[in-house]
Amino acid sequence: MPLLHKLAAVLVVAAVVLGLTLPGDRHRSGPARTAARAGSDTAAAPPSAAAPSATPRAAVPPASRTPTPDPSAPIRAASAQAVAVKANELGEVPVIMYHRIMKKPQLSLDRSVAEFRTELTRLADEGYSPITAAEFVSGRIDVPAGRHPVVLTFDDSSPGHFGLDANGAPLPDTAVAIIEEVARAHPGFRPTATFYLNDDLFNMGDRAAEGLKWLTSHGFEIGNHTVTHADLSRLPEKGVRKEIGGMEDRIVSLTGAHTTTFAYPFGAVPRKRAWAQRDGSRYAFQGVFLAGWKPSESPFSTGFDRWAITRVRSEGKIKENDCKRFCSTAWLDYLDKHPGERYTSDGDPATVTFPAAAVEHLAPAFRSYARDY
Ligand SMILES: [Zn+2]
Repeated sequence: MPLLHKLAAVLVVAAVVLGLTLPGDRHRSGPARTAARAGSDTAAAPPSAAAPSATPRAAVPPASRTPTPDPSAPIRAASAQAVAVKANELGEVPVIMYHRIMKKPQLSLDRSVAEFRTELTRLADEGYSPITAAEFVSGRIDVPAGRHPVVLTFDDSSPGHFGLDANGAPLPDTAVAIIEEVARAHPGFRPTATFYLNDDLFNMGDRAAEGLKWLTSHGFEIGNHTVTHADLSRLPEKGVRKEIGGMEDRIVSLTGAHTTTFAYPFGAVPRKRAWAQRDGSRYAFQGVFLAGWKPSESPFSTGFDRWAITRVRSEGKIKENDCKRFCSTAWLDYLDKHPGERYTSDGDPATVTFPAAAVEHLAPAFRSYARDY
C-alpha cells in the first residue's frame, strides 16, 4: 500500500508543520478581493471564529460579521427545545472523505456502491444531516434540532461520483444518484455533498460544464483539489499556485463561480500554508481540508483550525491503516457510543448552544451567540 503509507507519512509531517506555522499564518493577511463564491448562501448564521477579516463574505450580515468578543458577557439560557434534544454545538462533526465509488473496488481507498449506500443509510438512520464544506467552515450549520451535521466530501472527480445520462439525469449507482436516493427515503437527510475536483471532471469530456452546472443547481458544492493531483509538499511556491490557480480558473470558466474550500491532494501540505490559502483574486479559500484520521472540531470551538480541517476516511473496521480506530465505521460507532462528544444541533442556525460545562471550548468570537444549559 505505498499510497496509504505515503498518506500516513504526510499526515504526520503535516501535523508537525501545521503546529509550527499556525500562529504566524493566522495573523498574516492582506486585503484580498473575493469574487462571487460558489456555495455562498444567505443563512443568517454566525461567522466562524477564525474568519480572515481580509475575505468578508457578502452573505454574512454585516452586524454578525464582526462580533465583539466580550469574555465577561453573560451567556443566555438555552431554549427549551435545545435542552430537550441535548444540543451540543461544540461537539465533533464527521467530515467523511470518499475516493472512488465503484461496483467492484480495486484499491484500498475505493468503496463499493453497496458499501456506500449502507454507510449513507446508517448516517440517515442515526440522525445525521449533510451540509456542505463551505457551510461548515463558515458556521452556517442549519440542521433540525437534535440532528447532527455531517460533511460528505469526494476527492478526485472520478466517474463513480457523478455523470449525466442522455436525458440529463444523474447516472445510476453514482454517488450523486445514491445520495439523492437515500435522501428521498429518509426525510431530513438533505441531499448535498462537496466534490473536490481535478482536471479530469468525472470523465465527462465536453459535458463537464453541463455536469458542474447540474451539481451546483441541485445543491451540491464544488471544491478545488489542484489540476493534476499534485503533491504540494514537493513544489515551490510557483508550482503550488499554478496547480491551485489553474484548477480554479477552469472551474470559474465552467461555472462562473469561485470555490470556497480546498482539499490537499494526499493531505500533503506545502512548505508555506499561505500559498494554498489565497492568491489575490485568483483564489481565496475559507477553509482547507486535510486527508484523514479523525472527526473535525466544531467551527465554534477553540480547537477549530479552518486551515487544517481533519477528515475521516470512509472504510470499515479493517485492520490496515488503523481503520479499526480511525476510519468512518469506527468513528461512527464511537460517536454513537459517546453522544456527548458529537455535535447535536439546537435547531437554530443563529445560536450556538452547549452544556454549561463545555464553555471553556467556546471560541470567544461566538460568545454573543452562545446559549447554555
Ligand atoms: Zn485526491
